[in-house]
Amino acid sequence: MNLDEILKQDKLTRDDLVYLMNLKEEDDLEKLYNKAYQLKAEHIGQKVFYRGLIEFSNLCVKNCNYCGIRKDNNKVDRFTMTEEEILDRAKWAYENKYGSLVLQAGERSDKEFVDFVDNLIKKIKEMSNNELGITLSLGEQSKETYQRWYDSGAHRYLLRIESSNEKLYNSLHPNDHDFKGRLECLAEMKEIGYQVGTGVMIGFPGQSIEDLVDDLIFFKENDIDMVGMGPYVLHEDTPTAKKVENNELLKTRNLNWGLKMVAVLRLLMKDINIAATTALQALNPVGREMALKAGANILMPIITHRKYRTDYQLYENKPCIDEEASDCKNCLAARVATVGDEIVYGEWGDSPHYFKRT
Ligand code: SAM
Ligand code: SF4
Repeated sequence: MNLDEILKQDKLTRDDLVYLMNLKEEDDLEKLYNKAYQLKAEHIGQKVFYRGLIEFSNLCVKNCNYCGIRKDNNKVDRFTMTEEEILDRAKWAYENKYGSLVLQAGERSDKEFVDFVDNLIKKIKEMSNNELGITLSLGEQSKETYQRWYDSGAHRYLLRIESSNEKLYNSLHPNDHDFKGRLECLAEMKEIGYQVGTGVMIGFPGQSIEDLVDDLIFFKENDIDMVGMGPYVLHEDTPTAKKVENNELLKTRNLNWGLKMVAVLRLLMKDINIAATTALQALNPVGREMALKAGANILMPIITHRKYRTDYQLYENKPCIDEEASDCKNCLAARVATVGDEIVYGEWGDSPHYFKRT
């Protein structure tokens, strides 16, 4: 079967996915991205929803081998924003009509942290008259904690599986992780009623196109509502960086794989939310706009105060660390306009897929 025939099909086989992920010619890629954009326009609209991203603490109990803020990286100055500072950022998002927020941090599950987040959720809901949607990205927690935060008003949760291949997953993480435990977390969130988001890192050492195709099938089989996946980007003070042989080649390849993953996922899951992630921008100044053109519909502008941004460096060349949220807002609006999409202000931008499966 050739590309035109594959793009006409409604259902894709594993072989089709492998074929699409292996496309290399510019003309072929253009066709793929155009098809994905057309499907986004049909099923979601030519729209982009914002999630104001507050990266409120870089304290973490885990040691993921790829991550710049892993526990054992003692070059990092650790911080946790105060409740007042976080609420100030939430208010900024509310006043600027960002429909929702993502509260993200390193992983902790001690009582003090769980209470802190619980209070924050309640206060953000109160401050915004329940108008701001809240997504959490706070790692693995007990079912009770997920339930408690849901009851307080969070309604979406992002927990990447990082790789759906258990062996690769184990190679990325030391013994402080358990693949089955992670799957259980995703199942628990679904049971509680969250819109469930997951994702993978694309192009880390040892991962192949076949592995990525399995990741796409994993999203489909698990009936995921939203996906935030991004290219792996090196951080030199991490164990994974030592496995990278040629970082320049890796960057070019990972941008290319990252965009193809977005487009092929849109072909596979037409009505889910797909984020154009910041890591794409670390590899190309217009990486996120390219992802919007390839079928993504969510942007997560960082709205953390500038003074904390340098200490939340997951990988090298993280964009926007010298800017304040208002700079990002203006620059992003201009960038989205170049794609031809409309930014939808003041709405949660929930995943249409969630309402079909519930
Ligand atoms: N601690 C929470 C967790 O792990 O789910 C939330 C924050 S964590 C920093 C968010 C995501 O950053 C991870 O899921 C991982 O995929 C991504 N990340 C970490 N290091 C990265 C790197 N070097 N390149 C690309 N993405 C990275
Ligand atoms: Fe911690 Fe998340 Fe980084 Fe892992 S990816 S070290 S859990 S912040």
